[in-house]
Amino acid sequence: MKIVTKITKLQLNHPFKISRREKDTYREVISVEIDGGIGEAAPAKFYGETVQTVATAIDKLASVLDCDLDQIQDVMTEIEQTLEGNYAAKSAIDMALHDRLGKKFGVPLYKLWGLNPKKTPRTSFTIGLDEPSVMAKKALQAEQYPILKVKLGTPRDIEILQTLRDTTDKPIYVDANTAWNPREAVNKIHQFTQYGVELIEQPTKPDDLDGLKFVRENSEIPIIADESVKRACDIPALVGSVDGINIKLVKCGGLLEALRMMYVARAHGLLIMIGCMIESSLGITAAAHLTPLVDYADLDGNLLISNDPYSGVKLDNGKLVLPNLPGIGVLRNREV
Ligand code: MG
Repeated sequence: MKIVTKITKLQLNHPFKISRREKDTYREVISVEIDGGIGEAAPAKFYGETVQTVATAIDKLASVLDCDLDQIQDVMTEIEQTLEGNYAAKSAIDMALHDRLGKKFGVPLYKLWGLNPKKTPRTSFTIGLDEPSVMAKKALQAEQYPILKVKLGTPRDIEILQTLRDTTDKPIYVDANTAWNPREAVNKIHQFTQYGVELIEQPTKPDDLDGLKFVRENSEIPIIADESVKRACDIPALVGSVDGINIKLVKCGGLLEALRMMYVARAHGLLIMIGCMIESSLGITAAAHLTPLVDYADLDGNLLISNDPYSGVKLDNGKLVLPNLPGIGVLRNREV
C-alpha cells in the first residue's frame, strides 16, 4: 500500500491568539494520501501532537492499512487497537479512507451517510484575542460572516464584548478555552446576557466537571464542552454538567468517531457543535459533510489562512455549501 504524507505551512491572515497561547503567525498541517483518498491532520500541541508525531504514527500504522480498505469500521478498530492516542493522525487516515470510498462509489460523503445537504447550518467566524479595538476592527472586516465566535479569557472580557457590541449586532459565541474558574465564569456569563451571547464554550478547566456543572446551573446561556470532551466515551460523564459538546475530527480520530459522538450526544439530549483547528479546506470540507446533523458549526479554519492548498466547501451568507463531487470533494489549488 502506497502512503504519501506531505507537510504544509498554512500562513495566517492575522496573527491568532487564544487564552492559553501566544500569538501564532502560521500553522502546520499534514496531508496523507492512501490509495487515491486524501485526508489531513491539523495536530494540536495541547493534545500532544505535532506534524512530526502524526507522520511517525502514520508510518507505524502503515502495516494495518495493508487490508480491504472498504471496511472502514474494521480498519479504524484495528488502528485503535494498534496505537494509543494520536487522534489527529488517525483522523487523517479515517478521512482518506472515506474520501477513497466516496470516490470509488462516485458519491460525496454526505450521500454515503444519507444526509440532506440543504440542512447545513451557518458557520461562525472566529475573532482571536487582541486589544478590544483590534478585535472590533476584525469584526467589521468579517462583514460577510453572519455569526462571530469570540475568543475570551482575559481580565478585559467585558470590555471586549462591550466594544464588539458597539460595532456589530451579529449573534456572538464566546470561547474561553478553559481560562476562568467557576465563580469567575458565572459572574462573567451573568454580565454577558446583556450582550446577546448565544453560547459559551469551555469556560473552565477540562477535568473540573463539578465546576462545569456549577457554571451550567448558574448560567442562562448554553454551556458547550470542548477541551473536556474528545471522544464518544467521554460524553456520559458530562451529562448534567453541560448543554452540549464541540466535536472536532482531530480530537476524536475521524469522521467515524465523530458520527458515533453525535449519536451518543443525541441519546443524552445534548446539543452538538462541530469545530475545527486552523486547517486547509481539505479538513474543513471533510467535517462540513457532517454538518446536516449539528446545531452549531464553527468551521472557519480555512477562512483564516492565505495559502489554502485546496478548494471545497463554500459559504452562502455564512451557510455551508457542500461540494457535489465524489468523496470529500476538494480540488487542489495551484501552488500559492
Ligand atoms: Mg473551543
